[in-house]
Amino acid sequence: MNTPDAALEIPLQAAARIRIVLVGTQHPGNIGAAARALKTMGLSRLVLVAPEQYPADEAFRRAAGADDLLAAAGVVATLAEAVSDCRLVLGCTARSRRVALEELDPRAAASRVVDLAGADQVALVFGRERTGLSNEELQLCHASVHIPANPEYSSLNLAAAVQVLAYELRVALLAAGGQPSPDNGVRQEAAASHAQMEGFFSQLGETLDDIDFHKGRAPDSAMRKLRRLFLRAGLNEQEVRLMRGILADAQRMARLATTKPD
Ligand code: SAH
Repeated sequence: MNTPDAALEIPLQAAARIRIVLVGTQHPGNIGAAARALKTMGLSRLVLVAPEQYPADEAFRRAAGADDLLAAAGVVATLAEAVSDCRLVLGCTARSRRVALEELDPRAAASRVVDLAGADQVALVFGRERTGLSNEELQLCHASVHIPANPEYSSLNLAAAVQVLAYELRVALLAAGGQPSPDNGVRQEAAASHAQMEGFFSQLGETLDDIDFHKGRAPDSAMRKLRRLFLRAGLNEQEVRLMRGILADAQRMARLATTKPD
């Protein structure tokens, strides 16, 4: 095809693996405006986590023609549920370096998302208008994304932030031109899903208890650091199985050590 528009077609299958997750949105108008922002950039998957008022007429009014996207939006109760099958989860935050997570700018984030979306489900997560994402929610993310706005006034309107990221995703998708990224072509093992990582973290937490790693200290700080380490590493499924095998053996040895001989 050589119509001018053909040059602006994005790889639809990759676009369909990118989901935009809005957590705890307070103003339904922002949900509609976010849907419109996505549709203008050729994205279509919206997931709402416990929106405060939804469905709402105001959301459909502000969607202005993107109501198909709103009608198809999933509504779930928790962020973990919204991203359980995702291999990459990025959390957008208005406050730079608020969390000790790797921080990406929108362009780097879009490039990472589009690389993986050739084969895997990925999510970009946005927080509440008043309070953003909680620390617990950010801890579910592999990295954070910060739009380098005016440091003295860095908080964009939610739908405006969605628009910035959606635009960068479109540019990255257009550049990818429908070709799966070389990485995905040669990769042997799929990246671990969010649910697989959470299973690993819960066994890691139990194992640390079993081997009395904390010795009376609160476990939270060590677990936060370990989560960050393993999420940054980007483990694949095989590596998660290997780690869980090691943990299972450590747990078995801990049980043996505490079993008193008859
Ligand atoms: N008062 C909140 C701001 C929330 S704005 C706070 O201080 O955290 C609503 C959402 O829009 C944020 O949770 C974030 O996902 C997104 N957002 C707003 N400004 C952003 C920025 N500069 N960079 C990245 N995301 C931003």
